[in-house]
Amino acid sequence: MTRSTAAVVGSGVAGLTAAYLLQKQFDVTLFEADSRLGGHVDTREVDIAGRKLLAEAGFLIYNERTSPGLKRLFAELGVTGQPAALTTDVTCADCGFVHAANPLGTDTTPDRPENIDADTWKRFLDDIARFSAALQEMATSGKETTLVIGELLEQGGFSEYFVRHFLYPRTGSWFVSGYRALEVLPVQFVVNTFKNQGLLEPDPFSSWRMVSEGGREYVRRIAEQLTSVRTATSVNSIRRSDLGIEIHDAAGGSHRFDKAVIATHASQARKILVDATAPERELLGSVQYTPIEVLVHTDTTVLRNDRVGTSPLNVRVSCLTHRTSMDHFHVDVAAVSSLDVPERVLVSYNSVDLIAPERILARASYEHPRFDAINFAAQHRLADLSGPTLAFAGSYFGSGFHEDGCDSAIRAVAALGVTW
Ligand SMILES: Cc1cc2nc3c(=O)[nH]c(=O)nc-3n(C[C@H](O)[C@H](O)[C@H](O)COP(=O)(O)OP(=O)(O)OC[C@H]3O[C@@H](n4cnc5c(N)ncnc54)[C@H](O)[C@@H]3O)c2cc1C
Repeated sequence: MTRSTAAVVGSGVAGLTAAYLLQKQFDVTLFEADSRLGGHVDTREVDIAGRKLLAEAGFLIYNERTSPGLKRLFAELGVTGQPAALTTDVTCADCGFVHAANPLGTDTTPDRPENIDADTWKRFLDDIARFSAALQEMATSGKETTLVIGELLEQGGFSEYFVRHFLYPRTGSWFVSGYRALEVLPVQFVVNTFKNQGLLEPDPFSSWRMVSEGGREYVRRIAEQLTSVRTATSVNSIRRSDLGIEIHDAAGGSHRFDKAVIATHASQARKILVDATAPERELLGSVQYTPIEVLVHTDTTVLRNDRVGTSPLNVRVSCLTHRTSMDHFHVDVAAVSSLDVPERVLVSYNSVDLIAPERILARASYEHPRFDAINFAAQHRLADLSGPTLAFAGSYFGSGFHEDGCDSAIRAVAALGVTW
């Protein structure tokens, strides 16, 4: 008996999860515009002194405790997770601030830089305590707030020093690029995400993992199970018809399927869905994206160099010179997976201006959802978009984390009749 058919457009975690689950009941065709599968799962292999090292240019870590979808998916695929070392240095090139701690900065207290006066410092430490207490209070009280971060900071009289050396590098950089984007982030979005990701629990980083074999391995294991995989095949249009779903690709191919999942970014979904309804256009149009440029390189001058060894994760701020621009985020590839290597390899976000071109090993560029009050308000209606023939998935359904993409796909295929 021939099986029914399903198409999945986009091969990030959302599309891969959807394709993997649909394949249990359908013959699945996966369309991917890029020449490689994975979307933000982008493991690069680099050669350092004759030794091969895997560098995750995109997705790196997940919290096993709060990622039931990924945990189950990886278990079914036989992919293992290993502990990730996540100590994060925040350093300021201008005032000399240095703080090595867990990513949220909650397990150690920084020392006062020589040129920061005692009053500024006392206020800074008070602000950290007040902000953490406010988040905890909002999370436990269950009372919803409509404030955005900028309003919370103004109402609470939080100092600029706190925003630039703690709030943005420790909290904001999980979600946004740049101070301006931080100011318009809904406070409730941050509270919800911290709760969902287990970041308000006493030991928030004990169960964070990275894929031992590299993220590309789970991509490969899913792809090999699918009926058909079409890379370098951009979908130009999707429309619903009495016969199911019609897809036209950029190479001129026409295809018909019984069901489909669109697992591209929201803006891309809005573009290719040619018979979109008004609610589909409105909701898919509510999500804007920010570009992120990533370099894999060996230029360690981007790290602080006043002591031997730095943390696996490094955020560099420049409180005077880069007042409104993005800060620089660097991942030490070997340190995060506790490997001993002859030369350090770094993955740096938005740091093109800092890195010597001859030290660059690989480049990547991505787009990440920009969370603001508009898409946060629209988010709870996104699930209504999926119907029994066509469904939507992507990390934009949640807080932009990998688990959000996986979870959205589980829900999308459930709308198509496949439960897991
Ligand atoms: C640098 C970086 C690091 C990150 N690190 C982490 C991390 O450590 N942990 C974490 O939880 N999250 C992380 N994230 C968040 C990450 O974005 C999400 O976890 C998730 O991977 C996004 O998945 P997605 O499937 O929604 O989208 P994507 O992975 O972007 O996939 C969408 C796919 O659709 C394809 N596509 C688009 N249009 C078409 C078309 N017309 N036809 C065919 N294909 C099309 C695209 O080429 C792409 O492959 C990181 C993000 C970035 C940018």
